Amino acid sequence: MKALLERAPAHDFAVTPARGLKLVRGQGARMWDDRGRSYIDCVAGHGCAALGHAHPHWVDAISRQAGQLSSCGASFGNEMRERYLARLALVTPSGLGRTFLCNSGAESVEAALKFARFTTGRTKFVAAMRGFHGRTFGAMSATFNPLYKDVFQPVVPGFSFVPFGNCGALEAALDKDTAGVILEVVQGEGGVHVGDPGFLREVRRLCTEAGVLLILDEVQTGFGRTGRMFACEHAGVTPDLLCVAKAMAGGFPMGAVICADHLEVPVGRHGSTFGGNPLACAAGLATLDVLAREGLVDRAAILGRMFREQLEGIDSSLIREVRGLGLMVGLQLSVKVAPILKDLESEGVLAMRAGPRVLRFLPPLVIGWPDLAEVVHIVERVLKRHG
Ligand code: PLP
Repeated sequence: MKALLERAPAHDFAVTPARGLKLVRGQGARMWDDRGRSYIDCVAGHGCAALGHAHPHWVDAISRQAGQLSSCGASFGNEMRERYLARLALVTPSGLGRTFLCNSGAESVEAALKFARFTTGRTKFVAAMRGFHGRTFGAMSATFNPLYKDVFQPVVPGFSFVPFGNCGALEAALDKDTAGVILEVVQGEGGVHVGDPGFLREVRRLCTEAGVLLILDEVQTGFGRTGRMFACEHAGVTPDLLCVAKAMAGGFPMGAVICADHLEVPVGRHGSTFGGNPLACAAGLATLDVLAREGLVDRAAILGRMFREQLEGIDSSLIREVRGLGLMVGLQLSVKVAPILKDLESEGVLAMRAGPRVLRFLPPLVIGWPDLAEVVHIVERVLKRHG
C-alpha cells in the first residue's frame, strides 16, 4: 500500500502548482500535515471553509443526509432542496428570489452568462481588467489575465475589458448588443482590490439605463467573507444575477446563480446533474445555520478590521499597502510572495497569493483573535528576514 501511495503523484494530471505539503486533518482554523505539524489556516480551501474544518453541526447535517438520500436529480422534488432554497431566499438581497443551483464558481458564472444572453437577446459582455471568473470557456473569456487563456484560444467572442473603477470607460464600452456587465465586488485573484461603492452604484445606474444586466460575481466574497452576507450590500447595490459558490456550503462543492424576478430561461435549456443534490443542500443549510447562530458575518467585519490594522502596524519596507474587506485581506508587497509563503508555512501559517506580489489571507470565519494576532507576529518576523 505504501509503495502504491508513493507512486500516486504520477497518476495526478497535475494542473495546479504543488506546494509540497500534504494535509491530513483540520479542526476549526487549524490544519495538520502528514508529519503531525500544525498550521493556522488562512487559506480555508481557497475561501470555502467558512465554518472552519469539521464543524460538528455541518458534519452532523451531512452525515444524517448521507444516510437518508444523497442523489436526487433536479427533475424530482426533494424536501431538503426546498428547505434550503426557502432558507437561502431569507438572506439574499431583496428582489433576488429565485436560485439556480450548480456545483462550482465557474459553473455559476457560465449559467449567468447564458441567462443574461437569453433574457436580453444580446450577446456581448463587459468585464473588468484584473477580474477573475473561473476556468470554463465562458468564465475564462470573462477573465482578464491572459495567463489563464493564452494556451486555450480562441475564447468566446464578445468580451471587452475596462479598468475596474472607471465609470467613463464602462459607459463607453456599452452598446446595443451588450447583454451584461460582469464584475467582482472585491477582486480576489487579481490582487484583493475593493470595488469603490460609488463606482458600483454608478455601474448599477448605467446598466439599468442601457437595459444591460448586472452580474456580480460573489463566488469569493459571498456568505459573510467581507463582513456582510454579500459584499454588494456594502455599496447598497443589487445585481440582476448574483454568482456564488465557495463558502455557500461550508466547503461542500456547491454553486448558484441567484436571479432577479425578471430573468428568464426556458425550462429544459440549462441544467446540472449534481446541482441542488440533497447532500449539498444539507451542507448549505447547516452553513446558513452556523453563520447566523455564531454571528460569523459580523465577526468577520470586526476581526477583519483588527487584522488589517495590526498588519498596517508592521514596520517593514516590503509592505506597499494593506487592502481588504472583512476577512478577505491582501498585503501588497514590493517583492515576490513565493519565498515568503514558503517561510510562513515553515513557521506554521498557511496563506496564499493573489498575483506575484500580493499575499492573501482568507481564514475560516470561525478563526479566533489569538490565531490572527499570531499570524501578524509571524508575518512581521518573516518579512524582517526578507528585507
Ligand atoms: N469567480 C471568482 C470571483 C473566483 O474567485 C473563483 C475562484 O477562485 C471563481 C469564479 C471560479 O470558481 P471555481 O474554482 O469554483 O470554478
